[in-house]
Amino acid sequence: MKTIYETVDPGSMDMSVIDKAGSIIRSGGLVAFPTETVYGLGGDALNPESSEKIYRAKGRPSDNPLIVHISDFDSIYDIVRDVSAEAKLLADRYWPGPLTMIFDKKPVVPKETTGGLDTVAVRFPSHPVAQKFIEASGGFVAAPSANLSGRPSPTYGRHVLEDMDGRIDMIIDSGECNIGLESTIVDFTSEVPMILRPGYVNEKMLNSVIGEVAKDPAVFGNMASGGHPKAPGMKYRHYAPKGSMTIVSGKTDNVIEYITNRIKSKRPDERIGVLACSQNVSQYTGADMIFDMGCADNEIEISSRLYDALRECDEKKIDVIYSEEFDTPDLGLAIMNRLIKAAGHNIINV
Ligand code: AMP
Ligand code: MG
Repeated sequence: MKTIYETVDPGSMDMSVIDKAGSIIRSGGLVAFPTETVYGLGGDALNPESSEKIYRAKGRPSDNPLIVHISDFDSIYDIVRDVSAEAKLLADRYWPGPLTMIFDKKPVVPKETTGGLDTVAVRFPSHPVAQKFIEASGGFVAAPSANLSGRPSPTYGRHVLEDMDGRIDMIIDSGECNIGLESTIVDFTSEVPMILRPGYVNEKMLNSVIGEVAKDPAVFGNMASGGHPKAPGMKYRHYAPKGSMTIVSGKTDNVIEYITNRIKSKRPDERIGVLACSQNVSQYTGADMIFDMGCADNEIEISSRLYDALRECDEKKIDVIYSEEFDTPDLGLAIMNRLIKAAGHNIINV
């Protein structure tokens, strides 16, 4: 299959590209598109064959449900049985935006889209290109992240091209995704709303609108311990670079000392990469790759660079990766959730 690659400037959208993308979706094809979190791999959410194509293109296990993207709030009533008052409050505050909510589905949503479940995950993204694209596609776009299963999620059009060239009909490139981590997922089918995946909309932000929320213990308990998460996708080894990765946790001086010692004593055949905040990058000369993750106090810079950093480790054929810890106040939980998975739960305290 030849994949069409188009660039769309969010500031002055070429509607002919959006219309072409929409007609591909309506006729059962697949289009990757930008959102404020990561690039999505879109298909018609109400067409079971489109969802099957998404699983095939990604190499994704078919028990891992897709998120249905909408472009106006009211269309949610076409696909879910009920929206609770609390869910409505969250939608009023954080939609459009990086928040996914799970509800009981109506029969119109095929089981192929929900990985066999009777529930459906719904998101209304804020990215202007995503909104126009969903509208042009008929209003219901099923989309997981547009990476091959197991690879880091794409945050640039070129990442999507690396993984999906020849596997899907079209890619819309609108530059860097500004958040760079997947949406927060909140389940409204449990007694108390429960966070299944941490994201930009953090616990404090949810508490300020709906009070206490539960957290999936398998995801939030001891993040290093694994467990059986309620969001099927959280159990897979995601986000992983090919090299072996270690997170080095502790006082900054100790972290720098540990990593620089490893660089000094590296074997001639070993390629070492380091993920560090801007303040520390100059400490790691001698490493084969030093990725500047951004200022330690600029959380959004760090979150938006994480997946690019993991992909660059593969591009530069790094076999051993050390990352500093980025346990920042607001986005830290979401960043560390992905980083810990990328490292296969490999953390050392120094
Ligand atoms: P991705 O689109 O790659 O970010 O993956 C979507 C995430 O949403 C996966 O972790 C899924 O397991 C989760 N998800 C989607 N639908 C549901 C659902 N109905 N119930 C629980 N988790 C879901
Ligand atoms: Mg994904």
